[in-house]
Amino acid sequence: MRLHEYQAKEVFAEAGMPTPESVLAESTDEVLDAAESIGYPVAVKAQVHVGGRGKAGGIELAESDEEAREAADSILGMDLKGYTVERVLVEQAVDFVDELYVGVTMDRGAGEPVAMVSSEGGVDIESVAEESPEAIAREHVDPAFGMHHYQANRAVYDAGVDRAVASDVASVLTTLFDLWEDRDASEAEINPLMITGDDEVVAADAVMNIDDDALFRQPDLAEMEEAAAGDDLEAKANEYGFDYVRLDGNVGIIGNGAGLVMTTLDLVDYYGGEPANFLDIGGGAKAERVANALDMVFSDDNVDSVVFNLFGGITRGDEVARGINSAIEEFDELPKPVVVRLAGTNAEEGMEILNADALDVEQTLEGAVQRSVEQAGGAQ
Ligand code: GDP
Ligand code: MN
Repeated sequence: MRLHEYQAKEVFAEAGMPTPESVLAESTDEVLDAAESIGYPVAVKAQVHVGGRGKAGGIELAESDEEAREAADSILGMDLKGYTVERVLVEQAVDFVDELYVGVTMDRGAGEPVAMVSSEGGVDIESVAEESPEAIAREHVDPAFGMHHYQANRAVYDAGVDRAVASDVASVLTTLFDLWEDRDASEAEINPLMITGDDEVVAADAVMNIDDDALFRQPDLAEMEEAAAGDDLEAKANEYGFDYVRLDGNVGIIGNGAGLVMTTLDLVDYYGGEPANFLDIGGGAKAERVANALDMVFSDDNVDSVVFNLFGGITRGDEVARGINSAIEEFDELPKPVVVRLAGTNAEEGMEILNADALDVEQTLEGAVQRSVEQAGGAQ
């Protein structure tokens, strides 16, 4: 589960992390009220799950009611990389002289968590990692001991952080590591960690991803789950119990089993198409689950065609086919073309049963994907 910035900042603030005063707002009036209570200047920030909001027009600074109104009107309701902005965080603007990056994640290669500091904050840290990996100082942490003070200090020193703020940055890093561990996070990140002219250190952004399987022991975070959903589609996926990730393309993808769905995504890409989503409906393919999956992809306006890639294992191909047939009976006409490919146990029987008047049935995975890419407008 990925927390929104405002949710992560609540968690940060509770742990004693320095965060700017902020208020969540859903309308222009609420933005103005929030700005008034905080005092100008404020930053108005779109609360959607996309990075690089600043460059995309999702963050504006306002120094007056008039500017705050303009910012609210332009950001609320805007489409930011496929997400509609429904809420903004109104935040005390930080007058910064420098931007750092601090983060904690699991280094799977090393089998240990790693804490990171970089003086090249404020920008896309992935490109820093690629182009100048030496600009990121790293400390691996033995989970049996937690992060030692000397490790936090060394990371800050290695990153070349200014002396005047070094000790405060080290304590931010320690707090971030403790939070990462205590709250069962997979990632915790502050980018930028802003440094002001008065040598104050402020977490201006906040990213926190929580391990879904640990939510049972994080009841306060579990309560944030509904609001953390990126959009209506992700909320719907939670409700249906699907593994779902929304992507930018227009070829809807449904499959049973994560590997099968990933393969389908790769093939769509291979044939020049662009996947609209990852959707794993899990084992079996009962009519209800199939219907729910179709409901998901059909409700995504970006989807122009759908490819269904199903493997009959414990659930046999003929049962899967019956599930699909009864799911599509609910439609007079399918709103978008659907191609089905079945494999595995009783796949042949399944393909014979499938309602070929409403669906395109393909024998091979390659054929199914190619057909679906064509239906979505061909290779891009
Ligand atoms: P992201 O681009 O989606 O990660 O959003 P961030 O919260 O990291 O903000 C991106 C950039 O917006 C920052 O690096 C700053 O340059 C700018 N910004 C954000 N908040 C403030 C603020 O309070 N004051 C000022 N001056 N700039 C800000
Ligand atoms: Mn950021």
